[in-house]
Amino acid sequence: MKLWEDKVRRTIPYTPGEQPQAADLIKLNTNENPYPPAPGVEKVKNAMDTDLLRLYPDPAAGVLVDALADFYHVDKNQVFVGVGSDDVLSVAFLTFFNSEKPVLFPDITYSFYPVWAGIYRIPYETCPLDEDFRIRPEDYYKDNGGIVFPNPNAPTAIYESLDTVEDILKHNRDVVVIVDEAYIDFAGKSALELIHKYDNLLVVQTFSKSRSMAGIRIGYAIGCPELIQAMNDVKYSINSYTMNLPSLLMGAEAVKDKDYFYDCVDRIKATRERTKKRLAALGFEFPDSQANFIFARHPRYDGKALFEALRRENIFVRYFNQPRIDQYLRITVGTDEQMDVLIKFLEKYTA
Ligand code: PMP
Repeated sequence: MKLWEDKVRRTIPYTPGEQPQAADLIKLNTNENPYPPAPGVEKVKNAMDTDLLRLYPDPAAGVLVDALADFYHVDKNQVFVGVGSDDVLSVAFLTFFNSEKPVLFPDITYSFYPVWAGIYRIPYETCPLDEDFRIRPEDYYKDNGGIVFPNPNAPTAIYESLDTVEDILKHNRDVVVIVDEAYIDFAGKSALELIHKYDNLLVVQTFSKSRSMAGIRIGYAIGCPELIQAMNDVKYSINSYTMNLPSLLMGAEAVKDKDYFYDCVDRIKATRERTKKRLAALGFEFPDSQANFIFARHPRYDGKALFEALRRENIFVRYFNQPRIDQYLRITVGTDEQMDVLIKFLEKYTA
């Protein structure tokens, strides 16, 4: 063994979903949006003055922060932006989870949480979801070093009401509670309406799903100015220029087009509801999805075998070889046409 090896910071990394490059596949494995970004994004791209790339971008990401503050009716000192919500969540873990006590999150949830906890050496405990994959708020009443959960949860797609979120907040006034709302635009009310009441609440959202811009990498957090200031202090201690100029300009433009945004979200929700009916008719079982994906299993067919069979047809979905969920497939809601191909195959498979 080389002497430097025992000084290396070891970590078991997160495994991102596959990004296969073939052209003719149906990609329903990473919860991307099947529709293009708002039309203004292309205009910004075409009009961009590449000479500006000589300069560093605005470290405060002003245009984007302003656009988001406008959209959500908050002050700009309540908005933090980062390179996808993964970056925002990572900064939030590093900033707020700095206690000897364990951070709490569900046992079945976004699998990046234990990875950040691991690399930042944050102790954590998982709280089992109940048999219907629901969060039990009482599990979060115990002493802890902070709380994080997605709403809707991933990969279950279950949305918990704001009463549940507020119940958890009420019992945790002395730690930061992060609500990861990557999929909220496809679901019910956002916890954003609680930020004025709870100064320890941080709401994290992303451009990757409802805004069709996973490739540009923009995420953001909204909370009270003190939380945002603390995150910015950490960010400026690692890398001041996280947001590049094209993403600042295109991101700001995307936020301004409200009609396109709501229309696109409505289309995906309509396809989701249609797909739910058709999956149920084929005997699939799934929790009621309020996200842009459906977490489904079939009582008569093995999950992994079905995942592999779909793959052979060039239909990519996500499979998690994990206790409690190893019979399920997480299927992103694509276009109606993509879902028709999926259903057609499943009809044959289950016939
Ligand atoms: N949170 C949850 C629950 C997710 O599923 C994802 C997508 N993998 C993210 C955060 C991160 O998304 P992004 O970094 O693209 O904003």
